Amino acid sequence: MPRTDVMLNDPRLAAAQKTLGRDLVKAAVVSAQQQVREGFADPDGAADIALALLPATAGGLKSVVNATGVLVHTNLGRAPLSPAAVAAVTAAAGYTDVEFDLAGGQRAPRGRTVLAALAQAVPEAQAVHVVNNNAAALVLAATVLARGKEIVISRGELVEIGDGFRVPELLESTGCRLREVGTTNRTALRDYRNACGQDTGFILKVHPSNYRIEGFTCEVSIEELATIGPPVVADIGSGLLRPEPLLPDEPDAASALLQGAALVTASGDKLLGGPQAGLLLGREDLVARLRRHPLARALRVDKLTLAALEATLRGPRPPVHRSLHASVAELRERAERLARRLGGHAEAVPTIARVGGGGAPGVELPSAGIAVDESLALRLRSYDPPVIGRITDGRLVLDLRAVEPGQDEIIAAAVEHVRTRA
Ligand SMILES: *Cc1c(COP(=O)(O)O)cnc(C)c1O
Repeated sequence: MPRTDVMLNDPRLAAAQKTLGRDLVKAAVVSAQQQVREGFADPDGAADIALALLPATAGGLKSVVNATGVLVHTNLGRAPLSPAAVAAVTAAAGYTDVEFDLAGGQRAPRGRTVLAALAQAVPEAQAVHVVNNNAAALVLAATVLARGKEIVISRGELVEIGDGFRVPELLESTGCRLREVGTTNRTALRDYRNACGQDTGFILKVHPSNYRIEGFTCEVSIEELATIGPPVVADIGSGLLRPEPLLPDEPDAASALLQGAALVTASGDKLLGGPQAGLLLGREDLVARLRRHPLARALRVDKLTLAALEATLRGPRPPVHRSLHASVAELRERAERLARRLGGHAEAVPTIARVGGGGAPGVELPSAGIAVDESLALRLRSYDPPVIGRITDGRLVLDLRAVEPGQDEIIAAAVEHVRTRA
């Protein structure tokens, strides 16, 4: 068995320590020695095995291929950043002029260029602000506008987003009271009107982004709510800034403001296709109060987020937009090409893709993919890079709608590799 210190001095493993650090390389060496000891490899090959076991980066997160057909998949990091956003993050990673005016040589307001980009993208907003995520945007709005007061909300909009995160509990944690009105399926304008009074901080309209209430239903529009008096805060969820023709029922910031919302909150990493962030858009006086509150400092975003968000707003359309608008004919062609390439081991199949927890519940996006033997699922998840599909009718389906066209080759190589190792 080669000794650990000898292996660490192998020039290739020594070079890896410069980018990964000694601990990660040593862990790979120890695993490789274990494989030799268990008889899976010769002592001569130990360094090669250690090299193969090295992680791609010192960060624990792995890049994966999202073949689930869910465009905004929370477990897979929601929206993938555009190349423009990745370049902006890299540029901002070191010292940067995030709070510095290069011309004047003095301090400058943080995030001024990204806020300008957001204001430009939604001219319907008098003012804008960015925080850590939509949950933070709601906490800030509730704390500043409704602490010790009531937030009036429909019983049909008491939303749980996922992983036990409930909007009503989040709001109550700030010290405001929820005044629930109406019923699960029907809430009328008079329900809101009867509940509003001296104690009302604001009326909250929450978009049900992961469920739909159908049948005998009634909800009140922002336009009608805006006639009551208290400010209307609209949590639109998905982060569409303007209407998206493919998702006609999905709310957008510009329309909500035109309808009379005093404040709109949204996520940056759902349908907007950017980094995790919470967008606040609306009335100048309200946004100014939010921005000046001490809590705003605890919810502020870092320079990497600012850079990625601005590049998402100003740069080319991000991957989520491309996936949403991919033509079914092209997806089918890609699926057929992949199936041909894999011979009898994969079949091109029509599929249904979805936006995901990020919005547009119930919307089916016709798509295409390949179906392979279910038994390959674990091995495909263990491939480098991991390929994640979904099991349908006893087969593993790899849906291409959220897959970059350039990644088809990775899928082909992955299936080929894990099939021949079966
Ligand atoms: C996703 C979502 C949230 C939470 O947003 P985060 O950015 O994850 O904090 C809140 N409200 C609605 C309606 C959502 O869809």
